[in-house]
Amino acid sequence: MGMLEDVKEAVARVLPEKCQVTKVDLEGPEVAIYTKNPGAFFENENFVAKTAFELKKRVNIRTDKSLLSSEKEAEEKARQIIPQDAGIKEIYFDPAFSQIVIEAMKPGLVIGKGGETSKRIILETGWTPNILRAPTQPSEILKGIRHHIHKYSDERKKILQETAKKIYAEVPKSPNDWVRFTALGGFRQVGRSAILLETPHTMVMLDCGIDVAGEGKDQFPYLDSLHFPLTELDAVVVTHAHLDHSGFIPYLFKSGYNGPVYCTSPTRDLMTLLQFDYIDVLVKEGKEPAYNERDVKEMVKYCIPREYREVTDIAPDMRLTMHNAAHILGSASLHLHIGDGAHNLVYSGDIKFGFTRLFNNVDMHYPRLETLIIESTYGGPDGIQPNRQEAEDKLLQVLKETAQRDGNVLIPVFAVGRGQEILLVLENFYRTGVLDAKCYIDGMTKEASAIHTAYPEYLRKGVQRRILQNDSPFTAEIFQTINNGKDVNGKTRDEILQEKGAIVIASSGMLTGGASLEYLYKMAENPNNTLIFVGYQGEGSLGRKIQGGMRSMPISDRKSGKTRALNINMRVETVEGFSGHSDRNQLLAYVRNLKPKPKRAIVNHGERMAVSDFAKTISNRFKLNALAINNLEAVRLK
Ligand SMILES: [Zn+2]
Ligand SMILES: [Zn+2]
Repeated sequence: MGMLEDVKEAVARVLPEKCQVTKVDLEGPEVAIYTKNPGAFFENENFVAKTAFELKKRVNIRTDKSLLSSEKEAEEKARQIIPQDAGIKEIYFDPAFSQIVIEAMKPGLVIGKGGETSKRIILETGWTPNILRAPTQPSEILKGIRHHIHKYSDERKKILQETAKKIYAEVPKSPNDWVRFTALGGFRQVGRSAILLETPHTMVMLDCGIDVAGEGKDQFPYLDSLHFPLTELDAVVVTHAHLDHSGFIPYLFKSGYNGPVYCTSPTRDLMTLLQFDYIDVLVKEGKEPAYNERDVKEMVKYCIPREYREVTDIAPDMRLTMHNAAHILGSASLHLHIGDGAHNLVYSGDIKFGFTRLFNNVDMHYPRLETLIIESTYGGPDGIQPNRQEAEDKLLQVLKETAQRDGNVLIPVFAVGRGQEILLVLENFYRTGVLDAKCYIDGMTKEASAIHTAYPEYLRKGVQRRILQNDSPFTAEIFQTINNGKDVNGKTRDEILQEKGAIVIASSGMLTGGASLEYLYKMAENPNNTLIFVGYQGEGSLGRKIQGGMRSMPISDRKSGKTRALNINMRVETVEGFSGHSDRNQLLAYVRNLKPKPKRAIVNHGERMAVSDFAKTISNRFKLNALAINNLEAVRLK
C-alpha cells in the first residue's frame, strides 16, 4: 500500500530519533503513531502539529502497547491525577486504540492548563485520554452509544483499517475523468433525501432518508435503481439526523453495505435516537420496519465523526469538509472537493439563514465552489415567514388566551430541533416573567435535549455558557418531563390535562405518531384547548390535513376496537417563524452571500411548485444555471 509507505516516510522525516516511533497505522482518514517515548512529544509541542500539517491528517499519538499499565492501575492513577471538580462520571478503556475514555462533567479540568493533566495521565499510565463531556441530564441513548463503540474496539480498528485501504487506493488519473450526480430521493419533494455522487473510481451516497409521511415503497429512496451492489459503495455522508436524511442508512447495512458513515458526533447520536424511535413507533402500530435495532447498532460502529471545517479524505479522489448548517444540533452542509480540483460541490442540506436561539450563523464561505445543491422547503412564493419577534409575540398571545379560557395547549414538535428551540422560547418567557405556566415535555424531546447538553460547543454562546455552568435551560423549573405517561409525582396524562392550564410539548412534529398523537386524541374535542403548529407539516401528514381545515377524523377505540369520529373542536393555530429552515427571503440571502458564487445550482428538498419557482428565481436573479430535477435524473457535473 503506497499511502502507508508515504506516511511512514513523512513521519520519519518530521520526527527525530528520540520520538522512538514503533509503528504507524492508518485508521480511516486519520494516522496513529505508536511511540516508546510519549514524553518526547511533549518536550516539543510542535511535533504533533508539524506531523499533522505535513500529512494533512488528524494525527493520534499512542503509547507502544508494551508500556501500557494495567487497566486497573491506570484507572486508579487517573482518578488520583484528575481534580475532584472535574466530575468524573465514568472511566473505561478502548484497548485497540490505547485509549482511556474519561467521561466528565468538566472536560477542561481533565485536560488541565495547557494540557498538563492529560499529559500526566499519558506519561504515568501510557494510556491516551479520550475525554468526553457528560450530559448535564442523563441520556440512556448517549450512554448506550458510547459503551457500544468502546465494546467493539477491535472491530472498529479493523473497520478503520479497511476504510483506509479504500481511501488511499491507487487510482489512475486521466484528463477525461468525469463527475456524475444522481437524484435518488428528495427531489421535487421533502422526504427520503438521497444523492449518489460518482466518479470513475468512487461512489458516495450523500444522505439516505425516509419519507415518514409517505406510503409503501414511496417512503424510501430509489436504491433499486442502482447499477451495483451496495457492498461497492465507498462511503456514506450524512448532513444531519432528521429521518428524511438519515432514516434509511441502517437499511444499507442490512443490505450488505459495510463502509464508513461520515457525520458529526451529535448527528451520530441523534440519528440513532430517531432511528430507534422510528422502529419503535412502527412496531407499536403492528407494522414491520425496513430494518431492526441490530442494523442501527451496526451503523454506529461504522460512524466516523468529523468536526466542522475539518478536511477529510474520504476516497482517492474526494475530500470532504463539513460546515455549520445552523438547522439542528450537528447539522452540516457538505463541501466536496472532487478530483484534483476538477470539481467543487456544496450540498447545503437543511439550512437556517437567520436568527435562532440555539445555533451560530450558517457557514457561507467556501474555498472553491462550482455546483450548489440547495434545499427549498420554503422556497416558493408563499414561503415567506414572519420574523422571529413577531413569531414569539404571537405564540405568547395564543398561550395566554388559552390559559384565560382554562384550556390546555398542545405543541407538536420534532423531537430534535424545533423541540429545543421552543423550550428555549418558553424558558425565556418564564425567566423574563411574561408567562407563568406548567410545561410538560413528553416523547423523545427530553432525551434529545439531554444529548444537546453533551455538545455545548455546537450551540450559540449564551446557551453554551448556561450548560457549562450546569444551568441548562432545558431542565429549567418551568419544565416537567413525562416518562412512560407519568410525571415525577405519578400524575397521568389525563390528570395533568384535567388540572388545566398545561402546555404540552410532544413529538412527533407532524402528528404522524407518538406522544403528540395521543394528546391530540385526548384534547381535540374540547374547544377551550389549542393546538399550535410551529414546524413544517409534510404533505400527506395528519398535521398538514388539520392545518388545511380537516375537523373530523376516524379513530379506533383501543378498548372496543370500534371506529368512531373524532371531532377537532379545539382551536388550531399555526405560528410561523420558528422553523429551522430558511424562508424564501433567507434562502435568497444565502445564495446572494455565498462565496464564491456557484456556476450552477440544483434545487431539491421542496414541494414541486416551490422547487421550480425557486430555481427560476435564482437563475434570473443571480445569473446562474439552476436546475429543478426529478428523482432518478442524473446530471453530469464535469
Ligand atoms: Zn432537517
Ligand atoms: Zn430535511
